[in-house]
Amino acid sequence: MNKKTKIVATLGLVSDSKEVLKQMIENGMNVARLNFSHGSHEWHGNVIKIIRELSEEMGISVGILADLQGPRIRTLVDTPVEMKNGATILVSDIESIKNSSQKLGEGSFLLDVPKIVDDIEIGNEILIEDGLMKLLVEQKSDGVLTTKVIDGGLVKNHKGVNIPDAKLQISPITEKDEKDLKFVLGENVDFVAMSFVSSGANIESLRDMMKNILGRENDLPQIIAKIERKEAIKNLDDIIEHTDAIMVARGDLGIEIEGTKVAILQKQIVKKSLDAGKPVIVATQMLDSMIVNPRPTRAEVSDVTNAVVDHADAVMLSGESASGKYPVESVRTMKDIIENTEASPYDDVKHALPLNMQDDLKQLLFGAYELAKHISAKAIVAGSAGGNTARIISHFRPEQEILVVTNNKKTYNQLALVWGVKSKLYEKGGVFREDIDWLIEDAKKKGILSSGDKAVLIMGRVPDEEKIRFVGMKEI
Ligand code: ATP
Ligand code: MG
Ligand code: MG
Repeated sequence: MNKKTKIVATLGLVSDSKEVLKQMIENGMNVARLNFSHGSHEWHGNVIKIIRELSEEMGISVGILADLQGPRIRTLVDTPVEMKNGATILVSDIESIKNSSQKLGEGSFLLDVPKIVDDIEIGNEILIEDGLMKLLVEQKSDGVLTTKVIDGGLVKNHKGVNIPDAKLQISPITEKDEKDLKFVLGENVDFVAMSFVSSGANIESLRDMMKNILGRENDLPQIIAKIERKEAIKNLDDIIEHTDAIMVARGDLGIEIEGTKVAILQKQIVKKSLDAGKPVIVATQMLDSMIVNPRPTRAEVSDVTNAVVDHADAVMLSGESASGKYPVESVRTMKDIIENTEASPYDDVKHALPLNMQDDLKQLLFGAYELAKHISAKAIVAGSAGGNTARIISHFRPEQEILVVTNNKKTYNQLALVWGVKSKLYEKGGVFREDIDWLIEDAKKKGILSSGDKAVLIMGRVPDEEKIRFVGMKEI
């Protein structure tokens, strides 16, 4: 497989068997996303086990991303509520209604977050099910909201609710998230995605919680900040500074901000993430019609192509691979679009992308990248313990193969998300020459390198010589 842009695929009931997962990996899935809004711990644990087995058997790194639900508000109704445009609907929450003298009759519904009504004000809009339905809050008294239906529809149970203009006091890490976090840390996942992030401080509180639970400072899962709120757009620089990676979560973003502005915001978020040297994922509805159809629409093809041209590290599948009719075909289609786009000149980088990081390591690696161009190297070959060297090289978006060897399993899996990086695990490694020789032999066996090719070699660290780093050159 030749693609450089990575694929993140959400797993669900249609993609939880070893057979389907194997085909998804063969067709280019690099990172598996587990959405903790759905499924039991038993289900998630079982899928994690299968992926780890396949990764080992196939000798391919596959990252596991646990996506925490976060402070998502959901509807609570016994029977679906039909709302007609212009009608009046009463809305309360599970706690406020208990202390209220009012009773909710038929044609009204509850929100599943205690006391959330306290944070909602007259004039706020309540959006239901990806913004499909819309209510306007006209009155508030005794823990109950009186709302007017702007866009009607059928309110079903457990549907997502957004209230873009409310200053919500819900903690960014809920009790459920804390339980899920303990579980996924026990399962040694590679990434934890945080939903509805609004500040860099949110990210730090999650990182502190992980350190507390694990009782260590290092070897943590990387944190992925999901950008999906107005607040997050305001505090984007602060969030990018504190997080390890970024997801453009276009579903909720398109509800919180005008849907027609999402593509421009996507471009801004991708650019800022790249400038900071942090991996960025473009997510939601990329091949949406493939939930029911075997082929994507032309507009969807264009969407994936544009994300590749913008140099995103990864593109993501949601319902397409979690609950659709064509999980494997969705991955294959995404891979084909990526390969076709990367074979064109449109994604090529003429001048290395700017990077707001001015230290000696960056300068050295930039030198290595330039060297690789000048000698027409086939590959840049690096040893990388924590993955930093690999991420910086990838950032320059070289045309050469980026082959990375590490002796750290978490680094090995985390590099699955990083543009262009083919990582290999050499557990007994740690000695530069031996690791690199082993990696080059492996690449020769796979046909990635053949004799006569040139490679630029980068050594992240020399044992006992912390301050020395080498860049070298080798004819295979
Ligand atoms: P969120 O709002 O957190 O994105 P979502 O409901 O939109 O949640 P996606 O991750 O976009 O969920 O996945 C799309 C659909 O796939 C879900 O609506 C759900 O029906 C199904 N799904 C996802 N994960 C699972 C799972 N672990 N078990 C069963 N179904 C799942
Ligand atoms: Mg979704
Ligand atoms: Mg190209």
